[in-house]
Amino acid sequence: MPVPLYFFSEMAWGESDAAPASASSAVYGELLYECVACGGKNLRFWRTKRYQYTQDNSVEAFHICRCSDCGTGFLNRPPHADWLKTIYQYSGQALTQPVTVAEILAREVKFPNITVDAARMARDADRLNGSGNRTALDIGSGFGFYTRALRREGYCTVSINPGKYENTVFKELNGDEPIPVMFESFQDSDPFGVVVMSQVLEHLLDPEQAVRKVSRLLASGGVLACAVPNFESFAVKLLGARDNACLWVPEHVNYFTEKGLRVLLERNGFKVMKMEQTTRIQPNALSKRIKSGEKISSVLESLVMRFQRPFSRIVNSLGMGTYISIYAVKS
Ligand SMILES: [Zn+2]
Repeated sequence: MPVPLYFFSEMAWGESDAAPASASSAVYGELLYECVACGGKNLRFWRTKRYQYTQDNSVEAFHICRCSDCGTGFLNRPPHADWLKTIYQYSGQALTQPVTVAEILAREVKFPNITVDAARMARDADRLNGSGNRTALDIGSGFGFYTRALRREGYCTVSINPGKYENTVFKELNGDEPIPVMFESFQDSDPFGVVVMSQVLEHLLDPEQAVRKVSRLLASGGVLACAVPNFESFAVKLLGARDNACLWVPEHVNYFTEKGLRVLLERNGFKVMKMEQTTRIQPNALSKRIKSGEKISSVLESLVMRFQRPFSRIVNSLGMGTYISIYAVKS
C-alpha cells in the first residue's frame, strides 16, 4: 500500500494500466452515503474515472463522489475489499514484477524522493512525540525507507505491508521483514510512540476505522504522521479525471483535502500539530506526455529539474501541492 513510497515511481504511479489486475477480480463494494472523511451527507457526483485493465481490453468506469462540506472525494461504489487484496498481495505500488533495492537506490540518486520524504517525516514525528515511547509502527512500509529513517531517529520499529515485491526490497534494505498483512488484520497490544502512514489512507476502504485503530495503538502523547495525495493539487485541477496520480484507480479509493483530513483526525481524538504540502515533479513528467525525441526529452527533463523548486514553492503556498503531510498528537 501505499507509498511515496509509491511516489518513487510516477512510472508506476502514473500508469493506470500497470496494476496486475484483471476484469475477473472486479467486484464492487456497497454504495456510500456519508463522506469518508467528515461523515457529512452532502455528497455530489464529481466525475467518471475510467480504468483500463492490464490483462485484457475491458474498461471499468468508476464514479467519483465529492463531499460538499470538506471537499474530499471517493469512489462510489468503491471496489470490494477482495478486489484490493488481490492487487496488494503483490504490490501496493503497481509493480508488475520484482525490483531490487539497487534499482530503487539508483533512482533515488538521480532524483532524491522517498529518502528525503522519509527523513523529513521521521524527524518531524520524533520532534512532536511527547509520549516518551521510542517504538514506531510503519503502516504500509513499502520499500522500507520510512522504517530505516525511524531507526535512524533511534526508534525500535514494527512494519507491516502486504506486498511481496516491496517486502523483498525492504529485507535487502533493512535486514528484517515486515509483517505481511493489511492494516485491518494487524494485531498488537503494546502501544507505540509514533505511527507513520505514508500514502496509505487513500487506499483504505474505511479510513475512519483505520484512524481509530491508530489512536488505540498510540501511547498518550504519541504522534500519527500521515501523508496522502492532495485532491486539490494543480495536477487534478489541470487534468481533472485524467489525473492518474491522485486519482489512481482502483487502488486509491479516497482523495483527501486538507480540510477533510484535518476533520477526520480531529473527530477521532487527535490534535493536529502541523500540516504541510510537498510537490515533486518526476523529471520525465513533460517528456512523457509530449513523447519527443531523445534530445528534446533531455532538454525537457533539465527544464523540469531547474524549475522544480520555485514551482513547488508556489503551488504548495496556493494549497495545490501534490501531497499533504499531517502530524497529529493523540490527545
Ligand atoms: Zn466531507
